[in-house]
Amino acid sequence: MTASSVGTPLTPPPRAACQTQTPDDEVKVDNDTPAESKVVKEKESEQDKLKKDSDNQQGTSGELTTGADGQVQARLTDVRIPVHVHVIRSAEAGKVSADQIKQQIEQLNKDFGASPLSMFTFQLMGTDETDNSSWFTAPPTSSVYNEMKPKLRKGDKNALNLYLNDVGEGYLGFATFPADYRAKPQLDGVVVKYTTLPGGSLTGYNTGKIATHEIGHWLGLYHPFQGGCTGPGDEVDDTPAEADPATECTEGVKSCGSDSDIPVHNHMNYTPDNCRTEFTPGQAKRAENQWAAYRQPTAA
Ligand SMILES: [Zn+2]
Repeated sequence: MTASSVGTPLTPPPRAACQTQTPDDEVKVDNDTPAESKVVKEKESEQDKLKKDSDNQQGTSGELTTGADGQVQARLTDVRIPVHVHVIRSAEAGKVSADQIKQQIEQLNKDFGASPLSMFTFQLMGTDETDNSSWFTAPPTSSVYNEMKPKLRKGDKNALNLYLNDVGEGYLGFATFPADYRAKPQLDGVVVKYTTLPGGSLTGYNTGKIATHEIGHWLGLYHPFQGGCTGPGDEVDDTPAEADPATECTEGVKSCGSDSDIPVHNHMNYTPDNCRTEFTPGQAKRAENQWAAYRQPTAA
């Protein structure tokens, strides 16, 4: 598995970007806590106290029907996603404030709420913080995640575990896909570079929309440039095929020799934060179907 990623403005994004995250086929659960790894803070949000067990409850409204083609058709209306934030830092490096995390969740609700994916809402359940220099700097290909994630992950298949660290040179984040959950539930989740949070230091990518992009992957979406100009691409009909990642917000550039414009405003492209404003109805349909297939909680 390789990493899904967004490149920084300084480093061209890796081309073979969007898949899941570790090269190792085994989920390694290591119960041995390294000396330098210490969970130094854990707190529950007020909402967490009010909704103590909501992780384990039915968090989805809607109805599922079987279509003419025999496939489950999702009709989701209100999918509340519990979010567990894990701050990984190295001494002072990587610290983020509670207010930044609050603003990050608000940005997710704003981005998804203004789109056809508005059935998904995000609720912060709690934040923990770990001081560990190797976890802080690990690139997406690092086996460190096989150790880190199982130690920190919380909740069921519908719970979003959002890890904040420095990710590694050239990456702004990476995510696992819904289909990965079954085989590797403990590695499920999203990692984003801490400087991309609202108020972070990464100019152009510091409004919280990198998390929106990565959570798009976590919901089953690919990049519009997946597969270039040929093939099934991102499995979505209303995002024009695209030869390469778009990194600049130039409108009107035609895509793959077609009459359609390159989707520079799509959240799943590589353009700067202020350019990425859209999900399409086709992406919503795919995310709904992926949710129904892989992340729908079992009714109590
Ligand atoms: Zn991506």
